[in-house]
Amino acid sequence: MSGAVERHEGPTVGPGMRRTRQRQLVWEALQELGPHHTADDILEHIRGRYDVGLPKSTVYRALDTMLETGDATACRLDDAGLRYELAEAPHAHAICTGCNRVFHIDDLALRVAAQGLVGMYDFLPLRADLTVRGLCATCRAAAPAARFGGEHSPS
Ligand SMILES: [Zn+2]
Ligand SMILES: [Zn+2]
Repeated sequence: MSGAVERHEGPTVGPGMRRTRQRQLVWEALQELGPHHTADDILEHIRGRYDVGLPKSTVYRALDTMLETGDATACRLDDAGLRYELAEAPHAHAICTGCNRVFHIDDLALRVAAQGLVGMYDFLPLRADLTVRGLCATCRAAAPAARFGGEHSPS
């Protein structure tokens, strides 16, 4: 890090990098929508809010740039493709298979897992995308017999 990167109310502006209007729109959309939205969700939001005919490729390009600059992160939670969110502290995702709600898990869980990898495989993880599937408290109340490792599919 050269320290030349400035923080604004918006996407990162680095040397030789222009803050485009498009990137600003995507940044605002991510902030308004909250985490875990697909590029299509973001596109739809921008079109609905500003009534601008933004091409899909532009949104994808803006999202790619934001991943590179570290302004946003992406994760794959289901078959809908990558889901984006503004970058925050490292965290893992837990998805309830009962109600499909997504929870953020503290990065402690990731650090514990990382230490385990070093000990067991002499492998040093630098970054990890962890997604845990399970049941939230509400759904568990309806399925008290669920156990880790056992398949459970509430229907
Ligand atoms: Zn998330
Ligand atoms: Zn649930």
